[in-house]
Amino acid sequence: MKDILENIQSISEEFDLSLTNVSNTSEIMDLKVRFLGKKGKVTSLLRLLGSLPAEKRPAAGNAVNELRNTIESIIQEKTLALKNDELRQMELQDLIDVTLPAKSRPSGGFHPVVEATNDVLKIMTGLGFTVVLGPEIEEDYYNFEALNIPPHHPARDMQDTFYFDDGRVLRTHTSPVEVRSMLKYGAPIRIICPGRVYRKDSDPTHSPMFHQLEGLLIDEDISIADLKGCLDVLLDSFFNKELKKRYRASYFPFTEPSLELDIECIACSGSDPGCRICRGSGWLEICGLGMTHPNVLRSGNIDPEKYNGFAWGLGLDRLAMLKYGLNDLRTLFEGNVPYLLSGREA
Ligand SMILES: [Zn+2]
Repeated sequence: MKDILENIQSISEEFDLSLTNVSNTSEIMDLKVRFLGKKGKVTSLLRLLGSLPAEKRPAAGNAVNELRNTIESIIQEKTLALKNDELRQMELQDLIDVTLPAKSRPSGGFHPVVEATNDVLKIMTGLGFTVVLGPEIEEDYYNFEALNIPPHHPARDMQDTFYFDDGRVLRTHTSPVEVRSMLKYGAPIRIICPGRVYRKDSDPTHSPMFHQLEGLLIDEDISIADLKGCLDVLLDSFFNKELKKRYRASYFPFTEPSLELDIECIACSGSDPGCRICRGSGWLEICGLGMTHPNVLRSGNIDPEKYNGFAWGLGLDRLAMLKYGLNDLRTLFEGNVPYLLSGREA
């Protein structure tokens, strides 16, 4: 009995001493194993109890249990305190100084063609036009025949076409959306159709894929004056300037009469014989237009005796290049972001 009590005393002292050397949670766990683990010092004492005479066991058992409880509660308290210390330490290391200036990121911008398209759509929807989209893989019928371009018509050569094996095409212009919309909505109709178009062309001024904007207005008693007024608003608003314009006679199968529109050079207004934008001519070709051909109205199931109207098509890539001073069409599609954003407001 005396042995056990002495043991308890010495274990208690050893524990107190060991505890003073503990400085983190891993060390306190080791300490716990050393004293309370399966082969720990306190546990071995409990085993010794069996060898005592029966009458001495309760008192000895109580003494050992008391020691175990004391050690357990000290370890629990110490563990909690050490954990809190460690957490505080981690917080201090990761401390965020909210007074530091924030990291800045370069801001993005829209592609010039997207910006030009959005500008045009804003102007035209303001005039009461509705935006309509059509398929880029198009039936030969809508791309050609419905637009008064029958098979073997020489105008098909004007537009080198990508054909699919089944006879469908990558649309060569946005004009097929005209007939699709006339069939769907009937007359009167006022639509604009932006989108990608495709032709077998690739050089500094031609890309096999480019962006067009089609405009169509059909109503009663429409004249070329209405068409000119419409384009005046569109182009003057887009370039933020009252532009000089000139119309030249032209030919398109889907309009009669057909015209082409030139605007004064955005860069030099005709004052610079060495201007690289207009090559000194002072004029820029911008748009094909005309009064809608009666055959096209018929394709759209609209009575040409009752209704007439006009259509135009213009290149959105060219508009974007002129507005933002870009000089090679191909750079629009090469993803050189600093170049595309140069000269434009963020
Ligand atoms: Zn010029």
